[in-house]
Order: sequence, then C-alpha cells, then structure tokens
Amino acid sequence: MIRSAIIAVGSEIFIGSIVDTNSAYLAKRLNQIGVTVDLITPLPDDIGRMVETFKKCFSEYDFFITTGGLGPTFDDLTAEAIAKAAGVKLQFNDTAYKHIEDLLTKRGVSIKESHKRQALLPEGALLLPNSKGTAMGFICDKNGSYSISLPGIPYEMKPMFEDYVIPFIRKHFNLPEIFMEDIRFAGLPESDVDEVIREIGVPSNLECIINVSKGEIIVRVRTTDRKVFDPFVTNLIEKLNRFYIGKGDESMGEILFRMLNERKKSISFAESCTGGLLSKMITDIPGSSKVFVGSVVSYSNDVKMGLLGVSEETLKSFGAVSKETAMEMIKGCKKLFNTDIAVAVTGIAGPDGGTSEKPVGLVYTAIDIEGELEVKEHLFSGDRDAIRERSAKYVFDSIIK
Ligand code: ATP
Ligand code: MG
Repeated sequence: MIRSAIIAVGSEIFIGSIVDTNSAYLAKRLNQIGVTVDLITPLPDDIGRMVETFKKCFSEYDFFITTGGLGPTFDDLTAEAIAKAAGVKLQFNDTAYKHIEDLLTKRGVSIKESHKRQALLPEGALLLPNSKGTAMGFICDKNGSYSISLPGIPYEMKPMFEDYVIPFIRKHFNLPEIFMEDIRFAGLPESDVDEVIREIGVPSNLECIINVSKGEIIVRVRTTDRKVFDPFVTNLIEKLNRFYIGKGDESMGEILFRMLNERKKSISFAESCTGGLLSKMITDIPGSSKVFVGSVVSYSNDVKMGLLGVSEETLKSFGAVSKETAMEMIKGCKKLFNTDIAVAVTGIAGPDGGTSEKPVGLVYTAIDIEGELEVKEHLFSGDRDAIRERSAKYVFDSIIK
C-alpha cells in the first residue's frame, strides 16, 4: 500500500487566520484516486521544525505533499527546508526565474531581489508549472520517497495538483485510473433507487453504494473500467431522471443553474429574511445571467411596499412575516421581473424578533413556477445562519425537484 502525508505550511494556520482547506482538498482527491493518506499536519514557518518533519516524511512515506511557503518573502521557507531534509543544495533555477520574470513583466511589476529568492530550488528538483502565479511547484526524490511542494493559494495549488501531481502519482505508483461519481437523487425512497439499480444490473467490476444524507439519496459509482462506468451512470440517471439532482459536490446554485439553463427558464427573487442569499447562491455560478434576471432585497416594509407593491393594509393586518405578505411579494416580483419562476421569502431569522405567535424560525416561502403557485409556512430550527440557509435550501430544492 502506498503511504502518503499532507503538510500545510504556514504559521497563519496556528493563529486561526487561515483555515487549512488545502489539506482537505488534497486528502479527498488522493482518496478518490485510490491513495490512502496516513498523516495530515499543519506546520509553522519554522525552519527547524520543517526540516525535522520533512526528514521524517522522506523516511516514512512514499510521497508527501506540502502546500504553502513558496513565496518570495522571508517566511517562505519550504524550498530551503526540503533541500536540507533531502540533503541537497539550493540552486538558482533559470527556468523558474524566467517564469517569474515573464509573469511579473506581464503584470507590469518590477523585479526585486526578493523575487530571485523564489527561483532558489532544491538541486535536481522536477519543476511543476504554475500558470496562475510566480511560485513554481517542485518534486524532489530522496531514495525513492518524493516530496511534492505546491503553493499555498488554493486557486494556484488545485490546477497544479490536477494537471501535474495526479499524473505523476499515477505513473510512479502504477495506479489504475478510477472513474467515480456521486449521483444525487431526492424525492423517492431509498428502496426505489435500489430496485432501479437491480433492474439495470450492477456489472461485477463496478462498485455501487447507496447512501442517504440530508434528504438526498447518493449513489456512489466506482470502477476502473470506463466502458462500464459511462453506460451505467447514463442509464441510472435516465431511469430516475425525475428525481435526479446532480453529481458530486455540485452546490444547489450550480444544480439550479444547470437545470434552468437546460430548460431555458428565467428566475427572480424577492428576498426578505434571506437578505440576498438566494441571489448569492445563483450568482456564485459563472454564467448565471443566462437564467437569473434580478432580485429585490426587500428588508424594510417601505421597500416591500414601494418596489414590490405589498399593500400597507396587508402589512398592518397580517405582518411582514405572513402568508399574505409572501403572496404579495411574489406578485410584485413577477410584475417587476417577468420571469418563468419567481420566489418570495419572508421570515424571522432571529435571534431577536420572535414572539409566541410568530417565533424565530417562522418563514413563509412563495414559489411560482410558470403560474403554479406554492405558498408554504415553515418553522426552521437553528441559529440565524441555519434558518436563512434552510429557507434557501427549501426554495432551491423545491424548484429543482
Ligand atoms: P505565495 O507565493 O503567494 O506567497 P505561498 O506558497 O508562499 O504563496 P503562503 O504564503 O503560505 O503560500 O500562503 C498564501 C495564501 O494562500 C495564504 O494567505 C492563504 O490565503 C492561502 N493558503 C495558504 N495555505 C493554505 C491552506 N493550507 N489552506 C487554504 N489556504 C491556504
Ligand atoms: Mg507566501
């Protein structure tokens, strides 16, 4: 079995100013390609601790990945520590320097002495190109154990890992390519999914596991045979198309965007207690303007009346958090944006503002899908964030289904 470790370099992790998301990403991806991770640890920018840890990693693991500490500043010590641990010298690397020079020139930044530091890499290192930043990654070999060093910035680190590190690991450790997908369904019992899978028939070289999580049924399909993988996945989605939500880690925003885009439908929101959360979730997705027209964050009664046309009488008689207000909000939203789907949300996210009659967590959602209106009262539990998130999740889920 291959033994591996992940080291997140950076003193900032120890003071809580950055959260080590790099290690989680790497661990997940390594597991997906069939590599077990034996150790994950953060390390401060301390040359002594770094050398000691890297030496240990070279002797105990087949490979270890470091992220961070490749920048030009005095506290970026990864290259130096790897060189010391591997027992090689730091050497000025012309290719790395040319890359830094080219990138900085393109950006109109003048080259300083500190930038030259970034081209000092362990002797004999294999370079890993970085198309998004100055810090090149590198691989060092010490008696058949490899250190793989990547920059700390996630949007630089991830493509380098995908494009160079995965192929390197696969080749070096003779790993077969694994085809894996989590396929998500909702709105039907687990037993129905099981039945459909039986009908399709699971090929002997394909692993298929059903999991239930947060109201979704997740079917994990895994195999090393692409010829088996593609038809199985297509077949499963086709047979359960009505209940299909999406694949893998797709966010609800992504799923909703994909669905609306495929069906060429537009959407708009009138948001009160969610304060723009629905709009954020959809505009987080590049290209969302194809489906998302706009929204009104009608937090105050004045905006509910002025922009959405909610009547003063409704607000007085039933209150801002009521079925009646939600219905008038959605009416105004449809009038304003004229979309295929309109949504209105009004509620009490707390922690204050609740009464015995209208407690914290009381939320009204109105969803109009091409003229078909559903208005619903909910009592969500949890803190302010949870109540807002649950409201948004309900709305997205209802439209997706
Ligand atoms: P640079 O070349 O930009 O200096 P670097 O390789 O030296 O990059 P660091 O200086 O350690 O990396 O970190 C740069 C930024 O990358 C941090 O401020 C942080 O935003 C992010 N980052 C670093 N390590 C991690 C991590 N483990 N998880 C998530 N983000 C990280
Ligand atoms: Mg840095």
